[in-house]
Amino acid sequence: MSVSHVVNLSGGVCSFWCAQRVIQRYGRKGVVLLFADVMMEDEDLYRFNEQAAQHLGVPITRISKEMTPWELFASEGMIGNSRAPICSVKLKREPLDMWHRANTLELTTTLHVGIDWTEEHRLHDLRRRKPTWKIEAEMCEPPLWDKCKMLTELRALGIEPPRLYTFGFPHNNCGGFCVKAGQAQFALLLRTMPDRYAWHEQQEANLRDQVGDFSVMTDRRGDGKKKPLTMQALRERIEAGESFDRDDWGGCGCALDSEPTERREA
Ligand code: SF4
Repeated sequence: MSVSHVVNLSGGVCSFWCAQRVIQRYGRKGVVLLFADVMMEDEDLYRFNEQAAQHLGVPITRISKEMTPWELFASEGMIGNSRAPICSVKLKREPLDMWHRANTLELTTTLHVGIDWTEEHRLHDLRRRKPTWKIEAEMCEPPLWDKCKMLTELRALGIEPPRLYTFGFPHNNCGGFCVKAGQAQFALLLRTMPDRYAWHEQQEANLRDQVGDFSVMTDRRGDGKKKPLTMQALRERIEAGESFDRDDWGGCGCALDSEPTERREA
């Protein structure tokens, strides 16, 4: 089958609706739903993706480096963070791009990405970085839907949205964890899934024994300068009733954004 349209399906609602609009516009023939599995997803993501594929009438094409972000960090000898999200680059962006190059023709295949109108700058950035690729983002086009509308319309189809949205997470990546997340998202992870938080906290602590004083999060308390903030320190701060940055959600532009991959100085 020649591939005419590739939809990067992340497991989130925006990429689902992107795929729905692609199929409504072009039909199913030549459409590939491409999913890069980072092996650390919420279990409900797989239920959602399966239901989505059934509804869309196109099977999911799964690709994976078969390692989690933490396994990648251990092999690279560094802890990913918002300035160096190497998991986004090496476990998602590079495998997706490699599949695209190996299986499509740039001039006749369109890549469709789950970017909506609130983050259209990411689409422009992507087009700038890949000037020879045809790239579309159907959720940047009318009718313009916000996340709430996407969830409502999903339920109207009889598909329950991924559970992380109902917990309050802004996306369905990496089971509520993200190296680009801020303190508010980590506090939500601690409140809603304390066992999962504890597992990540342990992963970070183990790796710090090898790589030194690096962490996923940063803090500016005190002198205003950025310094590492471990998951253990944030948990202890929250448990002690101390303040944390409740507005710091960070931003997960996983797989699509251009990011530096340099190590962050502690
Ligand atoms: S969601 Fe965050 S932690 Fe997961 S692969 Fe993407 S950047 Fe890394």
